[in-house]
Amino acid sequence: MNVLGIESSCDETGVAVVTLASPATAGAGTGAGGGPIVWPRLRAHALHSQVAMHEAYGGVVPELASRDHIRRVLPLTDEVLAEAGLSRADIDVVAYTRGPGLAGALLVGAGVACALALALDRPTLGVHHLEGHLLSPFLSADPPEFPFVALLVSGGHTQLMRVDGVGQYALLGETIDDAAGEAFDKSAKLLGLGYPGGPALSRLAQQGRGDAYALPRPLLHSKDLDFSFAGLKTAVAVQLRKLGPAPTDVERADLAASTQAAIVEVLVRKSLDALKRTGLKRLVVSGGVGANAALRAQLDEATRKRGWRVHYPELSLCTDNGAMIALAAAMRLQTGIATARPDYAFDVRPRWPLDEPQDRPPVGPA
Ligand code: ATP
Ligand code: MG
Ligand code: FE
Repeated sequence: MNVLGIESSCDETGVAVVTLASPATAGAGTGAGGGPIVWPRLRAHALHSQVAMHEAYGGVVPELASRDHIRRVLPLTDEVLAEAGLSRADIDVVAYTRGPGLAGALLVGAGVACALALALDRPTLGVHHLEGHLLSPFLSADPPEFPFVALLVSGGHTQLMRVDGVGQYALLGETIDDAAGEAFDKSAKLLGLGYPGGPALSRLAQQGRGDAYALPRPLLHSKDLDFSFAGLKTAVAVQLRKLGPAPTDVERADLAASTQAAIVEVLVRKSLDALKRTGLKRLVVSGGVGANAALRAQLDEATRKRGWRVHYPELSLCTDNGAMIALAAAMRLQTGIATARPDYAFDVRPRWPLDEPQDRPPVGPA
């Protein structure tokens, strides 16, 4: 079974095809007959990032994002099918990101997905964007096994979850204000590093000392698994002001390294706390900040010391992409917790908690 996935929730248009060997043979989390589950395989994926287009504005302009998705989705679909050696007729299910994200951007992906499915007489499946991120490590060379603790660190979310199987997500803690990616982006902006600043800040941090400036570690010792990053950017702004109008390259690199050290220390500490609390020995990291080298290095070391495991998505699949959407759809179909339906009256959910029920009643003829 070939599942086409379309992602358009923000500023990346992503399209992918995954192939599922044997649908609905495995229960959520356990292999049929006790054997290892064969998860869906990525056949091809293509991505267009709008970063260059939004850079001049210092952030994503929703209207421009929607218009660009319209231009990109079909060419990317053709590209992906050609790369996979498939034709449109080989698509069995069309999946799309139903939310959360920018409403207009989501509507483009959902609209194209449903139009394509209608034209091909195939069923559709709307997917939760965060479930895509969460499951993306299953496409890596070293996929995890259930159950595990998930650290989801993206541009809009910072959450710790207990994951017992596909669709079995219990929120353990989350940010009460900014997301970790936002903390990277806002600090990077203060340092004049452009948008999105996460990768640029982490590059600059390589040349600096993480202990050069004492920045706050919000909620580090709180007894819960929540995060708070809003105060960090204020502290960065205050420190920058102290450095005067023309900080040296060394000062800027030191401040970048100190910012990264503060964010990473909190993420690592809370992830270890979540593992201790749940008694689980496996951590799965996903979302754009999961690409951060310092975070990976510290999590690798901390888990290795304790005899625990940590899994990541491939670097190219940490930020938004179509592969994770096709994958999440295919894994929901494989485990039988979702059904693709000939449902073309799409809707989108710009705000949508992951632990809310995902299926919706079929929209049939009146
Ligand atoms: P959400 O998924 O919550 O809706 P999003 O889709 O915008 O948000 P992602 O695409 O998962 O988020 O990740 C983008 C974020 O990841 C940005 O904030 C970006 O700065 C950050 N990021 C990407 N690479 C790195 C890196 N190497 N180090 C730190 N941050 C990074
Ligand atoms: Mg993005
Ligand atoms: Fe995302």
